[in-house]
Amino acid sequence: MNLLKKLFTQLRCDLGIDLGTANTLVFSQNDGVIIQEPSVVALDKQKNLVLAVGNEAKRMIGRTPGNVIAVRPLRDGVIADFDITETMLKYFIKKALPKNRWLKPRIIVGVPSGITGVEKRAVLDATYHAGAKEAYLIEEPMAAAIGAALPVSDPAGSMIVDIGGGTTEVAVISLGGIVFSKSIRVAGDEMDEAIISHCRDNYRLLIGERTAEEIKMKLGSAFDIGEEKTLDVRGRDLVSGLPKTFTLTRSEIREALKDTIRIILDGIRTTLEKTPPELSSDIMDRGITLAGGGALLLGLDKHIEEETQIKVTIAPNPLECVAIGTGRALEEIEVLKKVLISE
Ligand code: ADP
Ligand code: MG
Repeated sequence: MNLLKKLFTQLRCDLGIDLGTANTLVFSQNDGVIIQEPSVVALDKQKNLVLAVGNEAKRMIGRTPGNVIAVRPLRDGVIADFDITETMLKYFIKKALPKNRWLKPRIIVGVPSGITGVEKRAVLDATYHAGAKEAYLIEEPMAAAIGAALPVSDPAGSMIVDIGGGTTEVAVISLGGIVFSKSIRVAGDEMDEAIISHCRDNYRLLIGERTAEEIKMKLGSAFDIGEEKTLDVRGRDLVSGLPKTFTLTRSEIREALKDTIRIILDGIRTTLEKTPPELSSDIMDRGITLAGGGALLLGLDKHIEEETQIKVTIAPNPLECVAIGTGRALEEIEVLKKVLISE
């Protein structure tokens, strides 16, 4: 019986999808994470034509001729354009499904918790249009907590902080449901923007979004780990208009990121304040779990730990956490019915 069930699952090829503001991941029940690409669509504005999706579209950012634009349809955690989001989602589902498949799959999509009812409906419709037999949505913090293997169904509070590109989601989970959650529109993108401003204001230098992100990953930090490091960066001198190379230090980038990090920290504090006392004492015992790409910022865990006096752990695969969680949710659709959204 079990073998039959397994064979059935394999033939159906169920999918879990993390529809993130920066990256979309597809988890196949047969093969794990099979797609991990930027949530970007390149469009020809004049002809109203989609030119590329994912990796190929991201390569076009900042390098496109006038009529071609690269769009991130979920940039702020809300769906800016339904049609583009639908095109993107369908592209990834099509890419993930085997060509000669026998049965229609069940698909669970993890969505930012800030999206509206209408937006949820649009994502569900797009999933059905892309060939799903059954489609469900799960709120991203719940999927992240499941993916991080937190004991979500325990009658005790767990806190998950998912720092993505466009949004940071802070949530307290207990008894298989979200007790309280907060979505802040400040996360990785805002850090990149802070680095761009820093270079412009202090060096009169213009750098692009991709360079800023690279600086953040290679040099960024939230906590003084006592080790100085420098990085040579190329940009355009705003005075002469010519390309120029300059050197940045880890401590100046830490300073540049300070305000953004403070906003994220305030979000965590507010959530803790609004959490019922029993649950917040559970969180004191169990600690806070960080997920999302922003969790990888050097020393962010230490900084939050120092500021809240609560132990902070980074989820084992912060970038894949939500996708893994949607995958695990596929195995327990029946159990999770009350947290899955199907209409
Ligand atoms: P989303 O779920 O919103 O799509 P992700 O969880 O995929 O977002 O995280 C993307 C964000 O994480 C981006 O802003 C990216 O720059 C940031 N990020 C990825 N790796 C690192 C790193 N090593 N250090 C700091 N930030 C990182
Ligand atoms: Mg995410």
